[in-house]
Amino acid sequence: MTSLDDLPLRANLRGQIPYGAPQLHVPVALNVNENTHPIPPAVAADIAQALAAAILTVNRYPDREFTQLRDDLAGYLGHGLTRDNIWAANGSNEVLQQVLQAFGGPGRSLLGFAPTYSMYSILASGTDTRWIAGGRDADYELSPETAARWVRETSPDIVFLCSPNNPTGTPLSLATIEAVYDATDGIVVVDEAYAEFAPAGTESALSLLPGRERLLVSRTMSKAFAFAGVRLGYLAADPAVTDALRLVRLPYHLSALTQAAAVAALAHTGEMLAMVDDIRVQRDRLVAELSALGFNPLRSGSNFVLFGGVTDPHATFEALLAEGILIRDVGIPGHLRVSAGTEAETSAFLAAIARLRPAAE
Ligand code: PMP
Repeated sequence: MTSLDDLPLRANLRGQIPYGAPQLHVPVALNVNENTHPIPPAVAADIAQALAAAILTVNRYPDREFTQLRDDLAGYLGHGLTRDNIWAANGSNEVLQQVLQAFGGPGRSLLGFAPTYSMYSILASGTDTRWIAGGRDADYELSPETAARWVRETSPDIVFLCSPNNPTGTPLSLATIEAVYDATDGIVVVDEAYAEFAPAGTESALSLLPGRERLLVSRTMSKAFAFAGVRLGYLAADPAVTDALRLVRLPYHLSALTQAAAVAALAHTGEMLAMVDDIRVQRDRLVAELSALGFNPLRSGSNFVLFGGVTDPHATFEALLAEGILIRDVGIPGHLRVSAGTEAETSAFLAAIARLRPAAE
């Protein structure tokens, strides 16, 4: 049998394992921060109609500039943005990869603040960009002083700020983003994959874009829009940044079907986002009830909660799985992460972990 070691693989990919949480078919899957609510049937019917029309055109390549989609994404984001500020790709993972292809690469470095979204370091090695794991403050918070100090000490070419941060859920202040921007001449990406779940009144990093041509704010339709299976991520930035990304994107990278589905969904933004309030309620409930059970949940501005005080995370993960409940062991000692599901799913998880609690002690 040929193994990877027998192949002339790039040195920095040797020994690596592909990213991916287990995809298990269980009654309650709360492991990858999906929106567990299906999209409303009336909206699904409308999207299906748009797809039916789009399929009649697939003998031709799609609009390489995805113009309508950029218009609609700009309209959704507001903040005075226009299509020239918008870029999109197959999931925000691909957007972030394109950012590294354009601004990273051999001899360049990417700073993130660990623990953070684990794809960042993987995208770095895939593009031969050096990954620098910065640190955080107590409770995984990130103050302007700590963040700016890491930037000054490591002089990265690119900084990724995850806001709110995955896997900790912790929100990030605009002051920290401004401090990082001011401390570097490089590219600063604020990954707002979970922005729609922030408490009401939270300002997005989009408000910082004017006058900051090196600031990029990435978003996704995978979470709040319940569109993970479609693969549509996007970012807002200065038009010069989107021009830079055109240099590395594959021609026609967004299929006609993807574009049609996303445009149709954005025409129903209100209905698509209707579940966000519900999910926030379940998120807050997770924090309150896990705390009452004696765990230490972190504050969360996202649709998931990281909680400490777990004596044996692996055993607790397995015991929940045996009950058909899949959550995430993110490798942080004493901690587990759970996504906020529907009320029924969240209740099932809380009831199960309450039963396990004595055994876990
Ligand atoms: N950023 C963060 C912080 C995430 O948690 C995720 C998904 N888990 C992504 C980006 C990528 O999402 P997608 O590619 O589905 O847009």
